[in-house]
Order: sequence, then C-alpha cells, then structure tokens
Amino acid sequence: MNREKIIDGKFLAQKVRQKLAEEIKARGVCPGLAVILVGDDEASLIYDRNKKKAAEAVGMKCDFYHLPETTPETELLALIDSLNRAEDVHGILVQLPLPPQINPQNVLSAISPLKDVDGFSPCNAGLLMANSADAVVAATPKGVLYMLQSVLGNLSGKHAVIIGRSNIVGKPLAALLLNHNCTVTVVHSKTENIKEITGRADILVAACGCPRMVKKDWVKKGAVVIDVGINRTEGKLCGDVDFEDVYAQASYLSPVPGGVGPLTVAMLLTNTFEAFLKQNRLKN
Ligand code: NAD
Repeated sequence: MNREKIIDGKFLAQKVRQKLAEEIKARGVCPGLAVILVGDDEASLIYDRNKKKAAEAVGMKCDFYHLPETTPETELLALIDSLNRAEDVHGILVQLPLPPQINPQNVLSAISPLKDVDGFSPCNAGLLMANSADAVVAATPKGVLYMLQSVLGNLSGKHAVIIGRSNIVGKPLAALLLNHNCTVTVVHSKTENIKEITGRADILVAACGCPRMVKKDWVKKGAVVIDVGINRTEGKLCGDVDFEDVYAQASYLSPVPGGVGPLTVAMLLTNTFEAFLKQNRLKN
C-alpha cells in the first residue's frame, strides 16, 4: 500500500503545535488552560493527561482538576465560577460525559463563552450556526476542516456527508462545512438507505462510533474520507471506516489512530491561544 493517500494527522498536528509554540515564545506570554475531569474513566484520564502534556509543551500553563465521581453539581459549578474569574486561566474544558448527578447543560452554560475552548456552550454553538467570526469552533470539527483544507484547499461546492449528529461532532461540523460553502447532508442511526447517500459524497466524514462500518461500497470513487471514530475492539483502536477496504476507493483518507485525534488536541490548544488573545484584546 502506498501511503500517498493518507492524511497524516500526527504530522499536521505537529505543524500546528510548532507554530503555536513559536508564537507563544515570540510574544513572551503564558496562556492558561484548566482541564476538569469528574470521576475515574480510564480513557478520559489518558486524554486529559495528554492534553496537559501537549499544552505545557507549547508553553501554556495547564491545571488539571481531577474531582471524585460523587462530586455534586454545585461544587463543579463553584469551581467553574472561580476559573471564570481567574485572570491566569484563559480556557476551561470539562471532560464529558459527566456522572448522572450533574446536568451537562448546566455545566456547559456556566463556562464563560470567552473561556469555552471546547466550543460546546450554547452561546458558541449559536455563534457557529450564525457563521460569526466570534464563535469558538469545537476542536474536533475544526481539526476535520483543517485536514480537508490540507488536501482540497477550497471546499466550496463540495457535497459533504456526515455520519452522526451529536452535539460535539456531527452538528457543529455540519454548520462549519456549511459556512465553508459545502452542500451538507447529515445521516444518522435512523437514516434509511444510508449507503446510497454516502455514495454521493465528495467528502465523507464518519463520526458514529461503529467500528469499521464504512466499506468501499459506501464511498464514491475519489472521495475524501475522514474517520473521526475511536473504537476499542479486541484491545486495539480502530475507526468507523474499514481503512483497508476503502483505501483504493478514496482519493485521501485519514487513519485511526494518527488521524483526527492528534488534530483535536492541537485545535484545542489553538482555541486556548485564540481565547488568550481575545481576553487580552490582542490581534492574531
Ligand atoms: P455519539 O454517540 O454522541 O453520536 C453518534 C452518532 O452516530 C449519533 O448521532 C447516531 O445517530 C449516529 N449513529 C450511531 N449508529 C449509527 C449507524 N449504525 N448508522 C448511522 N449513524 C449512526 O458519538 P460522538 O460523541 O459524536 O462520537 C462519535 C465517534 O467519534 C466515537 O467513536 C467517538 O469516540 C469519536 N470521537 C473522536 C474524537 C477525536 O478526537 N478523534 C472526538 C470526539 C468523538
């Protein structure tokens, strides 16, 4: 298999992080990120530790708040309130999902929209829908856009089909691609004749959490395929796309691991830096 078609997320993320590190150093500043995890979910712990390491490597300060599973909502909201006021914290993210005693909507609404570097608050979700330049765009959709632009340049007029309609990937990505002049179709678990629809896509993004569901007969010849899925099967990571099966059919495709994942972290850091600039009224 030649590797020319692979969209190398690790390489692209490294480029983004290096540029950030250079800018932070040149300005002599220290943007601050606060990461909050409630409970002991093993995968979330690994993700959050990776985020902390990545933030510190580009010259940011990162405080990791690891709270017990039984933390009451009021306590989490009080922590967010104090971080909203802290002058050395420019970005706040709360790892989802949260335990059942905590309502995620209350939490996301409590984060100051200026510090909401995940872009999940109702305010930022609305700004993205309105195609406002002030929107903080959720990191995974922002990473997917970066990947698509790296191989296609201008996306105008492309038919993009997104598999999945979650609030953190499918919906914000649909708005983002629409804002970049794609024709967007969103399919989901209740969609009928899904293959017929995905088979017409110039850009196919799989974000459904179904291991290797997308096969070559789901993909138009020459389509760009982005795999957001992260699934663990038999102890190994795999995406929502059957990479080997789809490889010949696609013009470009992203792998799992080493695809969207690293770019998501890089875009989270980008959002934190942009939040720092906004809060200090500095230009990008
Ligand atoms: P989710 O469970 O919230 O949503 C899944 C969506 O897929 C739903 O809208 C559902 O309707 C749709 N779906 C489920 N089964 C389907 C089927 N058989 N056919 C068509 N649609 C189907 O998941 P999510 O949070 O959006 O995450 C999706 C995947 O992306 C997961 O594997 C997750 O781990 C991964 N993810 C990766 C990153 C990253 O950084 N790479 C970030 C977020 C999520």
